[in-house]
Amino acid sequence: MNITTSQKLFEKANQFIPGGVNSPVRAFRAVGGTPIFIKSAKGPYIFDEDDNRYIELINSWGPMILGHANELIEKAVADAIQHSFSFGAPTRREVEMAERIVGMVPSVEKVRMVNSGTEATMSAIRVARGFTGRDKIIKFAGCYHGHGDSFLIAAGSGAVTHGTPDSPGVPEGVAKDTLTAPFNDLEAVQKLVDANSGQVATIIIEPVVGNMGCVLPEPGFLEGLRSLCDKEGIILIFDEVMTGFRLSKGGAQERFSVMPDMTTLGKIIGGGMPVGAYGGREDIMNYVSPAGPVYQAGTLSGNPIAMAAGLAMLDYLNDHQEVYLNLDQAGVKLAQGFRSSMEKLGLKYTINQIGSMYTLFFTEEPVKDFPAARSCNMELYGRYFHAMLERGVYLGASQYESMFLSTALEESHLDHIIQANEDSLRAIME
Ligand code: PMP
Repeated sequence: MNITTSQKLFEKANQFIPGGVNSPVRAFRAVGGTPIFIKSAKGPYIFDEDDNRYIELINSWGPMILGHANELIEKAVADAIQHSFSFGAPTRREVEMAERIVGMVPSVEKVRMVNSGTEATMSAIRVARGFTGRDKIIKFAGCYHGHGDSFLIAAGSGAVTHGTPDSPGVPEGVAKDTLTAPFNDLEAVQKLVDANSGQVATIIIEPVVGNMGCVLPEPGFLEGLRSLCDKEGIILIFDEVMTGFRLSKGGAQERFSVMPDMTTLGKIIGGGMPVGAYGGREDIMNYVSPAGPVYQAGTLSGNPIAMAAGLAMLDYLNDHQEVYLNLDQAGVKLAQGFRSSMEKLGLKYTINQIGSMYTLFFTEEPVKDFPAARSCNMELYGRYFHAMLERGVYLGASQYESMFLSTALEESHLDHIIQANEDSLRAIME
């Protein structure tokens, strides 16, 4: 595979950008080699600067549910840019976007737009703290909620990939208010709450984790958190930056029928443009300035181009329920295909899959929490990653990531992925 242009670009990037990238996982440090520099993408394919073509399983880490450069979204953006790019003033589309989110996400009654998932989670915990008058938050080891100070304690995704789940630079005073529990361990959460009685403002969770690889909640876990929060007056936040509009029209909360008090959303609602949002119960959201006392603002929030892109995608998803059926079928087909290849090869690695999210973990243990995810063979994942790349499949450059399918994948692409997976597994065993 010729990647000389990517190699040259990366050399230059290292002169001007820390680590040569604008977000750590892109650097390929966990898997070795040079990051692929992307030139363009269309439908199920992504193309690099050396004109190599890959089938996409990252999809901008989630948002490209309809595949790349979807024509509906392109047209919406083309229409919007004729009227300037930003006003810093209210617009019609923001109202439509809020109405659409409230209509689709069952627990959200009011919503505020921001510019990234990080902003959404930072703002949501500020509101939860303001509303309850309490300081502490509980998060789960291996969950990633963006790079806000409070969340860089036992964080997943790039933070753990790069060996800094507890980042330097986070003041001790902030860190002491973040309590962490093991995912899927209700008893541990109860103990934390008991030990910090009356002090916990919020429990924030990825209802289905994408950031230690794809990890599912065990039956009863989310329900247990819901009743614990009800009993203790704690605000339950579902961070649906990855799962919102992906696991169903109404996200993981709809899929699991457990309603949080607040929901954070991200990249998906911009169809790939920089966007985030947080929303929830009306009484809580009315605490947000200027309706209430908790301050949160943004010059570019509700940006007209991002709103146009996101609305086009959400409208499509809202009107085409079959999207979710198709994505679920694609996910199941891949998981089954991977399992039968592994059987053939005498391998017993773990695959976690739900709808259009999956991770193949290089461990034989079930992966239900962070220690299990961390027990994976990272070196093997790195070899597998490159073997897949050589076979034209673009994956997340770390074991601690979920893959994301799009509706642009046809049966032939899924068959290609299944075959590439089998061939790659065989190749790395040699
Ligand atoms: N929450 C979750 C669950 C995420 O997966 C991410 C990013 N992948 C974020 C928050 C942060 O979003 P952003 O990178 O847009 O700041």
